[in-house]
Amino acid sequence: TKYVYDFTEGNKDLKDLLGGKGANLAEMTNLGLPVPPGFTLTTEACRAYLSDGDEPDGLRAEVSEHLAALEARMGRRLGASADPLLVSVRSGAKFSMPGMMETVLNIGLSDESVRGLAEVAGDERFAWDSYRRLIQMFGKTVLGIEGEHFEDAIDAAKKAKNVTSDLDLDAEDLRALVESYKAIVREHAQREFPQDPREQMDLAIRAVFDSWNTKRAKLYRRQERIPHDLGTAVNVCSMVFGNLGPDSGTGVAFTRDPATGSQGVYGDYLANAQGEDVVAGIRNTVPLQDLEKLDPKSYRELLDIMATLEGHYRDLCDIEFTIERGKLWMLQTRVGKRTAAAAFLIATSLVDEGAIDRDEAVSRVTGAQLAQLMFPQFDTRGGHTRITTGMNASPGAAVGKAVFDSYTAVKWSRSGERVILIRRETNPDDLNGMIAAQGILTSRGGKTSHAAVVARGMGKTCVCGAEELHVDTKGRRFTAPGGTTVEEGDLISIDGTSGAVYLGEVAVAPSPVVEYFEGRLGADSPRAGELVKAVHRIMTWADERRRLYVRANADNPEDAARARRFGAQGIGLCRTEHMFLGERRALVERLILAEDESERVKVLDELLPMQRDDFVAILTAMGGLPVTVRLLDPPLHEFLPDLTELSVRVAVAEARGEQHEGDLRLLQAVHKLHEANPMLGLRGVRLGLVVPGLFIMQVRALAEAAAQVAKAGGVARIEIMVPLVGAVQELEIIREEARAVLDEVREITGADIRALIGTMIELPRAALTAGQIAEAAEFFSFGTNDLTQTTWGFSRDDVEAAFFSAYLDKGIFGVSPFETLDRGGVGRLVQIAADEGKAARPSLKLGVCGEHGGDPDSVHFFHQVGLDYVSCSPFRVPVARLEAARAAV
Ligand code: ADP
Ligand code: MG
Ligand code: MG
Repeated sequence: TKYVYDFTEGNKDLKDLLGGKGANLAEMTNLGLPVPPGFTLTTEACRAYLSDGDEPDGLRAEVSEHLAALEARMGRRLGASADPLLVSVRSGAKFSMPGMMETVLNIGLSDESVRGLAEVAGDERFAWDSYRRLIQMFGKTVLGIEGEHFEDAIDAAKKAKNVTSDLDLDAEDLRALVESYKAIVREHAQREFPQDPREQMDLAIRAVFDSWNTKRAKLYRRQERIPHDLGTAVNVCSMVFGNLGPDSGTGVAFTRDPATGSQGVYGDYLANAQGEDVVAGIRNTVPLQDLEKLDPKSYRELLDIMATLEGHYRDLCDIEFTIERGKLWMLQTRVGKRTAAAAFLIATSLVDEGAIDRDEAVSRVTGAQLAQLMFPQFDTRGGHTRITTGMNASPGAAVGKAVFDSYTAVKWSRSGERVILIRRETNPDDLNGMIAAQGILTSRGGKTSHAAVVARGMGKTCVCGAEELHVDTKGRRFTAPGGTTVEEGDLISIDGTSGAVYLGEVAVAPSPVVEYFEGRLGADSPRAGELVKAVHRIMTWADERRRLYVRANADNPEDAARARRFGAQGIGLCRTEHMFLGERRALVERLILAEDESERVKVLDELLPMQRDDFVAILTAMGGLPVTVRLLDPPLHEFLPDLTELSVRVAVAEARGEQHEGDLRLLQAVHKLHEANPMLGLRGVRLGLVVPGLFIMQVRALAEAAAQVAKAGGVARIEIMVPLVGAVQELEIIREEARAVLDEVREITGADIRALIGTMIELPRAALTAGQIAEAAEFFSFGTNDLTQTTWGFSRDDVEAAFFSAYLDKGIFGVSPFETLDRGGVGRLVQIAADEGKAARPSLKLGVCGEHGGDPDSVHFFHQVGLDYVSCSPFRVPVARLEAARAAV
């Protein structure tokens, strides 16, 4: 195996092997852009190292070869005493994990080579500054020394000199600081700081490999659903220096505004500094535009390169660059993270600019992003106290109690509080708190700060760089201009779309995207902004492109109407159990207690007109679109009083010498219906077979409703769905009865009732005998919730709390199979049933009505296995429409 690739050997499509950073460094190199030469150790090398705990055979030799080639090319030797070559050792996985893993700069500096560096640079201060940075980063990353030891030492040096900026420390101060740093290494790592440059490099490479498995990296991957077995690549890159004086510097930039997508120059620049300083917010950056005055030549070259990159990637890119004494170097690029709104705006802009076509635009946005745009926003018309405005780093409207550390954020959110995490700036250790919080507020750092980047990735509301705030984390409070003080526990509201921070709780208003879907805001109305227009265009393109129909799960006319407005093409699941609740519960009790046929018939006759009215309302709301009605599914005891409560009631009455005949009989019935495993008990089709007349009453109510709608000039298309079938015989019996009722109602009313009779596939046996079942079914609807329960043997109501987090931790699955369909197991059953069902009955209609119908990844799967439609909750319908199209392009 080849474990090492020179930057000239790779390209952007090799992200699996070279990681995102390595692949894009190679791509830029091959585009002829100024990238400092270097090479990449593959993710395969990392995987081998992590599984064996040691470098794989041949890796060392290959690294030596590439290092020798690099030295030859640069005409310098790593860590030589005269004109030394220095390198950075940089992590870089396939998916970007901002700040999660390690990078060490200035490798190759030692007591000897620091003098050589000073000499070629003609700058003592610079050389010692670079050396102290190396010991600091190496100490933290490779030797595992707490960073604060080094920070304390530099603070002490500044204090001794009575200065505040590290720029005020001169060469002599920094040389002394290097001695203090070496002492810190000696004390805390029980070893000398390594003077051999190759040893430095090898240890740094190992440390980067190891950083794949730090706790925070694992947590981040879980949150972002990045697989744990990918490993990271390592990039060894020759150093260029942004800390060589005022004509040097370092910066980050976007080719467009990552928050809005508008074209322009967006970025931060810091003169006389090395890479990490920008992101860490150690000193205040200037807007990238200011570089035009500082160094017009580099500025123009940078803009040219940004245009080249956008043209080449046909997308927004973010970049890291460094200027060394007026010479521009590119250190990183990638297709940039962006807000959900920007994703839609950029995709439509790129279509208008002719850079991409409509299919590509559809694939550039995700259902998750669309879902984010459907979040509510603040309604600020009530006149709220705006304390300050920071940067709009990640959109959304978040309200919560102020907390000032991650620990409290996690603790309070566990006890059900909504919290806003407030920090001066965040670092990777804050990840838990960021996940727990509704939103994040920082007083320092720009749109590229850790808080901003991570929050955008998580889709979490974030306002950063609110510099007017004085955040006192130890005192658990912040003060704002005008003297407002917010203490831990006080309510605040932050608006990640505008950057505004408000005192107290601000009411939230629906998002304009939802108003658009609701039909209350036309895409061409003057009130609709660019975003609504972009969403409208992309949804139009998506609807033209998708093959899957999208239906909704709706049990009442309101949900049905909303689903239709959201673009649902029918109801895929209308549950009938709520039609047995409320005032009707008494009737159900009577039904269960009925001692003879005539009483049972009487109760069913009373229920029938109520059910009919429910169905009329829903069918009317759907205006001729198909409506799938599931016959009663849950076990009957769910409609009866709780066993314990009832027993107590009866016992108390008895003690008082009272006797309630009704309660006693009810108690007997509850005892009789009590089940150890209700999920696997008397429910679904089994009820229909055991309780005479029940299903037939429902079918009659539905048929009569359809007839009534037809009589009124409407169209009704009904699909009668029998739940929990495991054997074709069950379905056959119900089907015969249902057909007879349908015919009877047709005859009596003279209405043309269009009805299909089909079944749910939610038991493994149903899936495995689908060929037989299809003989009796005109459609299948996969009930993937139950199918997941019954395939895994997981009780959905219990397992999530009981052991799913352990399963996720241990990597048994990356995501709950109730959220995203388990393709390997449950998916196989779906595939078998779809194939064998279709083979037996080519006209068989196939759909899915579990929660998975609105889950992006699962929608792609349902598209691939050839289902006709997915059905999901009304609010997810737009997401499913978009993902169905993305699956098709
Ligand atoms: P991250 O993935 O956390 O951004 P990087 O590997 O990109 O880590 O490096 C951290 C910082 O160091 C970045 O600002 C980067 O631009 C800078 N840097 C990395 N390698 C070099 C180099 N060879 N010369 C100068 N700066 C570098
Ligand atoms: Mg970087
Ligand atoms: Mg079910």
